[in-house]
Amino acid sequence: MSKNVKTISSIIILILIYILINFICINKSYAITQTTSADINSINSNQYPQIKEILQNLKTEHPNWNFKILYTDIEWSEAIANEYVGHGSSPRNLVPANNSRYDSAWICPACGATKTYDSGKWYCASEAAIAYMMDPRNSTNNDDIFQFMELTYTESNIQTIKSMVNNTFLNNDSYINAILEAAKKYNVNAYYVIARILQEQGTSGSVLCAGNGYNGQYVGFYNVFNIGASGNGKENIILNGLKRAQDKGWNTIEASIIGGTEIIAQSYIAKGQNTLYFQKFDVENSDGNLYWHQYMQNILAAQSEGETLKATFEKMGTINGEYTFIIPLFKNMPQQASTRPLTTSTLIQTTNTELVKINVTGSLRLRNAPNGSTTVGWVYKDEIVTRIEKATSKVNGTYWDKVRKSDGTEGYAARETYESESTYKLYLVPIEPTPPAKEPEENNVPEENNTSSTTTVKNEKIKIDTVTNNVTAIPGTTVKEFSEFTGKEVTVKNSNGDILNSNDKFATGYKIDDTYTISVLGDVNGDGEINSGDLFNTQKYLLKKVDFDEYTKQACDVNNDSEINSGDLFFIQKYLLQKTEFSI
Ligand SMILES: [Zn+2]
Repeated sequence: MSKNVKTISSIIILILIYILINFICINKSYAITQTTSADINSINSNQYPQIKEILQNLKTEHPNWNFKILYTDIEWSEAIANEYVGHGSSPRNLVPANNSRYDSAWICPACGATKTYDSGKWYCASEAAIAYMMDPRNSTNNDDIFQFMELTYTESNIQTIKSMVNNTFLNNDSYINAILEAAKKYNVNAYYVIARILQEQGTSGSVLCAGNGYNGQYVGFYNVFNIGASGNGKENIILNGLKRAQDKGWNTIEASIIGGTEIIAQSYIAKGQNTLYFQKFDVENSDGNLYWHQYMQNILAAQSEGETLKATFEKMGTINGEYTFIIPLFKNMPQQASTRPLTTSTLIQTTNTELVKINVTGSLRLRNAPNGSTTVGWVYKDEIVTRIEKATSKVNGTYWDKVRKSDGTEGYAARETYESESTYKLYLVPIEPTPPAKEPEENNVPEENNTSSTTTVKNEKIKIDTVTNNVTAIPGTTVKEFSEFTGKEVTVKNSNGDILNSNDKFATGYKIDDTYTISVLGDVNGDGEINSGDLFNTQKYLLKKVDFDEYTKQACDVNNDSEINSGDLFFIQKYLLQKTEFSI
């Protein structure tokens, strides 16, 4: 009898423990209560630092903009941890590979830069990258805010709608009515519907919404959202898009608008993921689950689609429209917004490297260690070297800084005289960039320019050398600017032979009319951007580890002294720090 009582009470205790464990677990993992508030002034700054002031400032700047706060009820650290998963198989967040804006600390140290995903184009994103991209305080600004735009239906202003469709193929009362009807029926924001259509079709509309079919097929069908328009090659893409339109019975633009909006709405917006941010970072809980339902692994997806949305609104002159933005807030976010992970170029900028000039009458010994006894090399009067470590304490009466010569030799040099010496002298003098040498007056007299007898023609952005067939331009110069300067239409091709559009930017190595080769100042690696890659290539050249073509040398000679030296390196570094501009 007592044995039975014992057994029963043991079972009861076990059941109680089981219930208790479940209760604790449910509370910990699932019992999330998310609430929304439209009152930004009521944000508790002690719990959610900085965000109130940021949103108040945006509201002052754009009085028509509205903000909603989604209190996610999720711990910040838990959100990051749940996004930082899938290592080795399918990471939840990826960063573009071989991109100097997203290298170094953007890459997950566990997977590293040797483990690539999706045919080598992506690396696993680091925890710091996830924190930076998810932290709403980094994106609540004029450039990045549109990733938070509410995509569910809100009452829309007909004037805003009309200015959006003005001068586009959507400027038609029947199409506008179809958009308004679809927006209401499928609970999607009408501004978003228009922006999406114009993103897909351009302002004048593509073959997919002309109704003329393609190669004699699918005449009379329309697909304004390009739904199903994918495949290999242009023809395949168009035919697949038109086939989908036929399958769906979209035989008018209006039918395509209504049917397409339903598809856009059902996969994410209808599940509560009603901003681009939530479609990427699934911290919205109304469908009962978190994190996994995302439409892209690319960690930049929400930001870049938000930028496209913004660009569309800007183009249509409706940037100050009545948009609502939903800002997610997390529990126990850091006091300061998560900082941007360092990249190679920022590392170079922050590791205290600077150029110094040797200020001695003869030479200075480089040693193997601070006050070391072994000589590893010499630096000479007026030689310029890179200081890679600046000592903070003295050894044997002076500071020993680690420097690197342009031939790669590294060693420790005395920064200044020993404290026992009676006269003080600084041996390693930091150098400031010298401005490019001013052209002598006579080079600027008008008759020297724009005449067929001279070999160069130039303005403040572009220089054409008619002997070497080289065109030198400052970063950002476009095909259009070149055409305006020369007064004639030109054909510019990139290194693959593709023809550039008039607003496309020059890059080093591109060809004009198959005759002139372009050198963009500072664009040493020919990707059209000035970044740490250019810095590295210049360093390699100075260390004689690579050789350059003539046009690359021209691009590298940013201080216009007709040779490549540490001055150019210094200038490119300054450019990256946004402390200087290049000039022709
Ligand atoms: Zn990883």
